[in-house]
Amino acid sequence: MATIFSAWQDVLQRITKAAESCGRRSSDIQLIAVSKTFPAECVRELYSLGQRDFGENYVQELQEKHALLSDCPELVWHFIGPLQSNKTRPVAERAHWVHSIDRLKIAERLAAQRPATLPLLQVCIQVNVSGEDSKSGCSPQELPELARAIAALPGLRLRGLMAIPEPTADMPKLAAQFALLRQLRDDLNIDGFELDTLSMGMSADLELAIGEGATHVRVGTALFGARDYTRKEIQA
Ligand SMILES: *Cc1c(COP(=O)(O)O)cnc(C)c1O
Repeated sequence: MATIFSAWQDVLQRITKAAESCGRRSSDIQLIAVSKTFPAECVRELYSLGQRDFGENYVQELQEKHALLSDCPELVWHFIGPLQSNKTRPVAERAHWVHSIDRLKIAERLAAQRPATLPLLQVCIQVNVSGEDSKSGCSPQELPELARAIAALPGLRLRGLMAIPEPTADMPKLAAQFALLRQLRDDLNIDGFELDTLSMGMSADLELAIGEGATHVRVGTALFGARDYTRKEIQA
């Protein structure tokens, strides 16, 4: 069994190599360690090694781990999962980032519920880049209007776009989905936005995503191992 330290080193090495091979600086790419379904001790262990950014998908898990790890002052929580409008408050009060905003109502609630004592909540709009009906994310057509509305809200700072592409072994098809997200971000910037973030790439495809401009890769399995979704406490 690989230790979490060696898994972490391997992932950092992959990021460095991928950045070098496309002429980017590895320091421009943030690793978000996706700790969903893994206990707070795993987060603490990786934090103690120096990892700072962690991603969670479930509101209840974020609440639990946030409480258990309140003694880790530099820990940065990224909420990356689907968000229902009746569950925004705990996220607005705990997360540093939300990557998965796909409609205005969610952003409005987060903006209203973000405590004034905290820094602005950093947010990304999740875009459906595969065109699959089942996928969450706003459509590319809806994006400009949604981005304008979110940028006008208090309490939030719109940083960029996030996508989960359709899983496929077809590398050109995958690359095209990452490239589309980048194109959409660049188009918004031409229209006057200042979006610096492309949240894309996971364990299996982070190299491809970095090649297409990812600034934040969200990596779970390659760091923590396979997830066990049968654990009762994460079904909420
Ligand atoms: C679970 C998850 C990840 C991590 O996926 P791995 O394949 O385990 O690296 C990344 N992003 C989102 C939105 C996820 O839900």
